[in-house]
Amino acid sequence: MADPTEEGPDMTLEDRVTALISGEQFAMPQREKDAALASIMGDLCALVATGCPQYGRFLSRLGRPASDWTSLADVPPLPVTMFKKFALSAVPEEQVVRELHSSSTTGQSPSRIFIDKTTAFRQARALVSILKDAIGGARRPYLVLDVPESVGDGDTLTARGAAIRGIGNFASSTTFAMRQGGDGSVNPDWDVVSAFFSEHGDQPVLLFGFTFIVWSRFVREAEEHGHRFKAPHAQLLHSGGWKKLTAESVSKAEFNERTGAVLGMPATAALDFYGMVEQVGTVFVDCPAGNKHAPAFADIVIRHPHTLEPVAPGEVGIIEVASVLPTSYPGQALMTEDQGELLGVDDCPCGRLGQYFRFTSRVERVEVRGCGDTFAAKRDGATP
Ligand SMILES: [Zn+2]
Repeated sequence: MADPTEEGPDMTLEDRVTALISGEQFAMPQREKDAALASIMGDLCALVATGCPQYGRFLSRLGRPASDWTSLADVPPLPVTMFKKFALSAVPEEQVVRELHSSSTTGQSPSRIFIDKTTAFRQARALVSILKDAIGGARRPYLVLDVPESVGDGDTLTARGAAIRGIGNFASSTTFAMRQGGDGSVNPDWDVVSAFFSEHGDQPVLLFGFTFIVWSRFVREAEEHGHRFKAPHAQLLHSGGWKKLTAESVSKAEFNERTGAVLGMPATAALDFYGMVEQVGTVFVDCPAGNKHAPAFADIVIRHPHTLEPVAPGEVGIIEVASVLPTSYPGQALMTEDQGELLGVDDCPCGRLGQYFRFTSRVERVEVRGCGDTFAAKRDGATP
């Protein structure tokens, strides 16, 4: 296997990306990692720009030329809302093998993400690399705290479906814990859940669900009905906004405690991860110290909301997520609508290297330079 730090001119872009995906995920010091990613980004973004003229315009109008990028922070981040407003693909339609959609909130059109074969392959491998570090590589019985309908069956997939399928790479068998009501409601099937734990409860099992569904439809329901399970070797991965839980004043510590009590597993076995449909495969999982780390092939840049300069450790800003996985859409550097705190660099108590952070809140409204004009029209001379 190639050493990602020894990328010579003889290594192709594909080789360099593959080396990062398949190597150690949290072992590279930040300075080294940043240089490796910046160098890949220069070539990768230029390539995507040739397939996606709107992105080409965005890059040429903002920031420095790709050949001058020396740090990931030099790559101009694309506001993630652009995927809601425009169909941004860098490959011909016949190369798109899957289209991903965000779960749309009322009155908003969902993001549309176009995935080609290369991107799909990288996303699956990358997710496995990250999760292996968090939960180990063995396959085990998989209980999905969701309804089977959420996975879908066509070439169009929602964020929920993509996550359920991706984590399914670790499954030896898959069981869905919820049934969909006629009104579209999501209801636990306690018989199925009880049967799952009486069969597998004494072995390692893997659970996954969206945070709010886990909380409102599983944990609280179980508490109300007095259901308790014994799964001391279980691990629960969960993802998705904390906004509704914050509104109910539920902290992460309380979520972990009460979820652990219902499942009969340690509170520390509930692992939150941060990820988005615009960057499937790139997820940021809680470490044992409760912090989120970026894998080798991706990083975060937490930027000051006004200056957009990277913040120093201890400061809060808007989270940019950067990843070298996508080839079929301009998702390499994305400005999210989330805020996070940069906690430190290379010195998390868990021993993982690189930057580590925590999610703090959703940004209600983000104004980022590089508005829709850049994409919408060829208004020469207009500055975004
Ligand atoms: Zn850590």
